[in-house]
Amino acid sequence: MSFQPKSLCVFCGSKNGNDPTYVEEAKALARMMAKKEIELVYGGGSIGIMGIIAQEILDHGGRVTGVIPEFLQKHEVGHHGLSELIITESMHERKRTMFEKSDGFIVLPGGLGTMDETFEIMTWKQLRLHNKPIIVLDTKDYWQPFHQLVEATIAGGFAHEGVRDLYCLVKTAKSVFECFEDIPDVLEEVFTSHL
Ligand code: AMP
Repeated sequence: MSFQPKSLCVFCGSKNGNDPTYVEEAKALARMMAKKEIELVYGGGSIGIMGIIAQEILDHGGRVTGVIPEFLQKHEVGHHGLSELIITESMHERKRTMFEKSDGFIVLPGGLGTMDETFEIMTWKQLRLHNKPIIVLDTKDYWQPFHQLVEATIAGGFAHEGVRDLYCLVKTAKSVFECFEDIPDVLEEVFTSHL
């Protein structure tokens, strides 16, 4: 199935990471999204890769919606130049809003918050609560330990092998969009095999 998103949620770090390729690939993705007129939905901050991707899209004429909880506004320095900034009461409301406003999800390098968001969206898909694409951008093999952890859950008998289809792992920003050409359907057994 070919997929033409109107909006994509990007999960990524509130830091830049220590390899400049992380930032370069985030910017490349941002420019492609702006060119394809795909709206960015993200955590609303102005720091780290979060702030960089938002600014790059705005600089290239794209639309950006930020979703930030009130208590993080001061820490993440909510971005003031966004097309739209939604303030939520809690982290849970933030993640729910980001989910509802997006046609799919892209995961860039990030820290624990990025992992939390990624695992949540993957588990919702495992439970068949949604069927939106999840693309993990494995810049410089950053997400290999994550990928191996998922493999370990299969090898250890805690997940159906169909969970491999919950997400697509790609190496470059360009291949994110190639991935949209052929998104696998997740097997029903991923949810039902152990019920
Ligand atoms: P990080 O990857 O830790 O830099 O965080 C990236 C984004 O995830 C930031 O917007 C954080 O506010 C958010 N975040 C951090 N910790 C959590 C958490 N426990 N649950 C949900 N989001 C979080």
